Amino acid sequence: MPTYQYKCCTCGYVFEEFQAMTDKPLKKCPVCSGNIERLISGGSGFLFKGSGFYITDHRSDDYKMAARKDKPVDKQESKTSGKEKAK
Ligand SMILES: [Zn+2]
Repeated sequence: MPTYQYKCCTCGYVFEEFQAMTDKPLKKCPVCSGNIERLISGGSGFLFKGSGFYITDHRSDDYKMAARKDKPVDKQESKTSGKEKAK
């Protein structure tokens, strides 16, 4: 769950609150019950890093598959040249 930062517009009190993204944002200051605003910082950056890591993981998997395909081709070429030498 992401951590949201809230700041009170009346007394300036700043605090953090663990909330799910589907939860409704808080509207009252716990100190003076005044209006508070949510400070959005770093939440979207964390999501971007997560998706980027997944793409990198997928790429490395494709690279391994390509490397496996290359090896059998090399062996076949060496076998063919060996038979020609035997004749
Ligand atoms: Zn307040």
